[in-house]
Amino acid sequence: MDNCIFCKIAKGDIPVKKLYEDEQVVAFNDVNPQAPTHVLVIPHTHIATLNDLTHDNQYLIGHMATVAAKIAKDVGHAENGYRLVMNCNQDGGQSVFHIHMHLLSGRQMEWPPG
Ligand code: 5GP
Ligand code: ZN
Repeated sequence: MDNCIFCKIAKGDIPVKKLYEDEQVVAFNDVNPQAPTHVLVIPHTHIATLNDLTHDNQYLIGHMATVAAKIAKDVGHAENGYRLVMNCNQDGGQSVFHIHMHLLSGRQMEWPPG
């Protein structure tokens, strides 16, 4: 997608420090962190929202969660815990329409979320 900022990050057209990358996903720090660790895990493939998941691409979500859990472990937050978030559309608070998983850790999270 030509105008998608996360497609550009995944392709390397917008440089970011990649914390993890493989053929399926890329992970990098959120530009506006909401916790001591705030990492985004995105697929290389452009999928606009969770509503666009299909039988063919659903496996990506499990992989994204596995990568996020590995990063939480690498930064030493797995034991204390962390939160994984995926926002969908307006009510979910989604602002970038290329699916992404937020890894938030390093502080006590609250419930219910805002
Ligand atoms: P959403 O609100 O869609 O769930 O999350 C989008 C996230 O992407 C936000 O937390 C926002 O700070 C982050 N973000 C938006 N643009 C950029 C960018 O250009 N670089 C990085 N690293 N993060 C971004
Ligand atoms: Zn995209």
